[in-house]
Amino acid sequence: MTRYIGTGEMADLLRREGAEPILRRLVAGLRSDFRRWPDFDLAPRLANHSAGGVIELMPIADARTYSFKFVNGHPGNTRLGKQTVVAFGVLADRATGYPLLVSEMTVLTALRTAATSALAASVLARPGSRSMALIGTGAQAEFQALAFKTVIGIDEIRLFDVDPAAVAKARANLDGCGLRLVCAGSVAEAVAGADIVTTATADKARATILTPDLVEPGQHLNAIGGDCPGKTELHADILRRTRTVVEYEPQTRIEGEIQQMPADYPVAELWRVLRGEASGRVAADDITLFDSVGFALEDFSALHCLRQIAGAGPDLDLIPDVSDPKDLFGSVFLRGAAFERAA
Ligand code: NAD
Repeated sequence: MTRYIGTGEMADLLRREGAEPILRRLVAGLRSDFRRWPDFDLAPRLANHSAGGVIELMPIADARTYSFKFVNGHPGNTRLGKQTVVAFGVLADRATGYPLLVSEMTVLTALRTAATSALAASVLARPGSRSMALIGTGAQAEFQALAFKTVIGIDEIRLFDVDPAAVAKARANLDGCGLRLVCAGSVAEAVAGADIVTTATADKARATILTPDLVEPGQHLNAIGGDCPGKTELHADILRRTRTVVEYEPQTRIEGEIQQMPADYPVAELWRVLRGEASGRVAADDITLFDSVGFALEDFSALHCLRQIAGAGPDLDLIPDVSDPKDLFGSVFLRGAAFERAA
């Protein structure tokens, strides 16, 4: 049978378990999966672009399980009352090819993106980081704030968005979670003196949310919004000053902030930094950058974690129930019935 986790069950799970404990479990799973990187069959995601956005398929497998995610990115959607990013995914048994789990992944993507950002910051941000600027307070924002609180120990978030209603929404959602919330009047005000800067804006453009004059020595930049060809958030001159860490270099060269840089621009992959095989932050005044675009391994890890947390539950009627595996036709039609109707 194929376990099914829809949006209702996902919301129930989050309320029952709590967002922060789930984020901690996701980070633990991600850390261990990133550290066994050579076990995976890896490929850049398959992207179909259109004028307003992109639809992507993100496959990956280890020896035992395979997963893929369907995800979009349509920055203009919010003007239509629709979300910028929606997703669902599948986990399958590699030995038989049978799907084990079909799940909503819109919420799971926000959780795993935040968990991955926090995991990267745990090896890149200055120890003792306490304040984070959060530029772009849409759907991803609260998940990022909570992950950095619970994993890094951030206690102050400075919120900025060009849409004041989005800031008010994030502030109201985070009220009472134990973070000091500051609504900044500009990107510059949010970023000044912050230990970490997260950019989570959505615009299908070469945007310059951060310019070189705003970035301070020692800051860690967590750039998650630039994740498509022609869709970036940082001025290229910032990249000339950063120690840059990426998820999967072949994909990030196409989609990340580093698409603005020459092919020999130096980057380290996160799994190597987590294994101590590549350096992240070397000096206190280094400017570090996690150039995040989202990689299939994060979805694989999140689906496994979700399956474990959710346990038994509703199944999806997805695979024909056959008593004789060679008799697919007979599982649909009683003998003779198909021909009676056609006659
Ligand atoms: P969203 O549309 O819900 O929110 C984006 C917010 O950015 C909006 O509130 C918008 O007003 C704000 N914004 C746009 N331009 C801005 C600017 N110049 N300055 C300040 N704010 C600005 O989108 P979302 O679901 O929160 O996603 C945010 C971004 O993160 C998207 O670009 C999405 O593609 C990306 N994303 C990346 C990953 C990853 O793994 N790296 C995962 C999920 C989403």
